[in-house]
Amino acid sequence: MSNIRNCSRCGKMFNYIAGEMLCDVCKKEIEEKFQEVKKYIQENPGSGLKQIAEDCSCPAKQIKKWILEERLMFTENSPIQITCENCGARIATGRLCAKCKATVTNALNDTVKQRQQALAAELAKKQAQQPSSTSGMKFLKT
Ligand SMILES: [Zn+2]
Ligand SMILES: [Zn+2]
Repeated sequence: MSNIRNCSRCGKMFNYIAGEMLCDVCKKEIEEKFQEVKKYIQENPGSGLKQIAEDCSCPAKQIKKWILEERLMFTENSPIQITCENCGARIATGRLCAKCKATVTNALNDTVKQRQQALAAELAKKQAQQPSSTSGMKFLKT
């Protein structure tokens, strides 16, 4: 069965398979634009986002997207300041610095562990709540 959609960029009908809602022509054009922007940044490391967008006639939004996808890297002296979303450290690309990325991965593992521990604690609590002779004795004493 075919899955006909409208391209989100040019509006043309195309056979959608997966990923972004883009037709093959637009996908190719965006990829070509990416190579152009990448080359431009390498040749002009001091350019800001606005200048890159203007000189490459590429929307700044698209450039930012590439940064988040870790496809574009910026050097120390670039005016484009990308900071870690978690700690604010200066990074070359993406959303998080290497340190926070590792922390996030650990935190995810911890969450799983915590959930398992919470479940075990819950179970133990339920068992403790079961009426037993010892708790009855304690009640009488107070
Ligand atoms: Zn298109
Ligand atoms: Zn960080």
